[in-house]
Amino acid sequence: MNEYDSNRILDLVKPIGYISTNNPSEADCYVLNTCHIREKATDKVYHDIGRLKKEFRNRKKPMLLVTGCVAQAENEEMFNREKYIDGVVGPQSYHQIPDIIKKIENNKNKINSTEFEVIEKFDCLNSVQNSNSKVSSFLTIQEGCDKFCHFCVVPYTRGPEYSRSFNEIINEAKQLIANGAKEITLLGQNVNAYAYKTPTRTFRLADLIIQLNDLKELKRIRYTTSHPKDVTKDLIEAHKTCKKLMPILHLPVQSGSSKILNAMNRKHTIEEYLEIINDLKKARPNIKFSSDFIIGYPGETEDDFNHTLNLVEKIEFINSYSFIYSSRPGTPASKLNTVDQKIAKKRLIKLQEMLEKINTKSKKEFLNASIEVLFENKLKRQNKYFGRDKFLNSVIVGSEKDLTGRTLNIEINDFNHNSLFGKILHNEKKITQLN
Ligand code: SF4
Repeated sequence: MNEYDSNRILDLVKPIGYISTNNPSEADCYVLNTCHIREKATDKVYHDIGRLKKEFRNRKKPMLLVTGCVAQAENEEMFNREKYIDGVVGPQSYHQIPDIIKKIENNKNKINSTEFEVIEKFDCLNSVQNSNSKVSSFLTIQEGCDKFCHFCVVPYTRGPEYSRSFNEIINEAKQLIANGAKEITLLGQNVNAYAYKTPTRTFRLADLIIQLNDLKELKRIRYTTSHPKDVTKDLIEAHKTCKKLMPILHLPVQSGSSKILNAMNRKHTIEEYLEIINDLKKARPNIKFSSDFIIGYPGETEDDFNHTLNLVEKIEFINSYSFIYSSRPGTPASKLNTVDQKIAKKRLIKLQEMLEKINTKSKKEFLNASIEVLFENKLKRQNKYFGRDKFLNSVIVGSEKDLTGRTLNIEINDFNHNSLFGKILHNEKKITQLN
């Protein structure tokens, strides 16, 4: 979502004369768009500012705005801690950046804008063309979260759930397609909680997918991040009927133990999670899943952890994220006793070994097979192109010709931890088509 927001910030400041630069040392204005989800996010911001100060030590200071969730969480405190900062702008106020820049230019005052003005923000953004021209583009449809998982800061930094208007999203999708997008990933902190209400009906995520599925130039649709509680019947049906919807779903589970899920306030059990997975598999037999795991959540026993391992083995999640629980100030879980860090680390290593084994197995299945790849860009200084298969695996292929934006069948002949490697297939008949 920060990538989407950063692109939109750029669209907003173009009319007041700012453009992006590939040479950071010549910038007149820096926007540090921050994420608060990982531990030490705040330290990283101050570290980056330290580097910036060094770079500009003997030159005119550039304007510096800190935006995003760290700005929201730290607020006024940022000015106290770092005088170099000129503006602190929360994720729901970034539509005000052009005004903020002008005010700072004129008055040299420091400005804090951290209200939750999400309706105003999207009203403003709807009037500004989205100029992103990537083959695979992000499109925010929903923001905020009302779930209040006990470990998470998002409800406090991004605010309550808000869904953008159905028509505005479709219009923006058409803009992105006109700019060259072949794949659109619909974004939201709780993307499948999308619910845009009009006097006559409520539009859901499935309605958006169905409409996008009909746009001729668009080849692929994805959405992230979902909450199991909001996987509705119509969304499962969309996985069956909308062929452009890719057969991979990132569905965070966090733990394989219902006891821990309850302690986390995740609002579902493991049995319910498994039922959703089964329903999705019935709708789309080749679907694969990725997930997020928090290891060593307060109260997690060896037995709870073993439930997580069992779940991973059963579902065979690919490309997943796993972390040791780390406390976020102000969240309910921050008041609880943490699991011994040595034990948590051991568990994490065990889980990651299992995830890696599954990843390797899943990549091995691609060897000597044909897969369909959408190419996104050329690698720097090499005649190689980067693309993704339907399951989001990155694929690298050598080519003298420009492959950007093309969907091609690729024969896979090697892989490593991160990527599959192959060659363009001219004679498809000989090998198995995997997806
Ligand atoms: S559903 Fe996701 S964003 Fe919302 S509180 Fe839980 S972890 Fe955070």
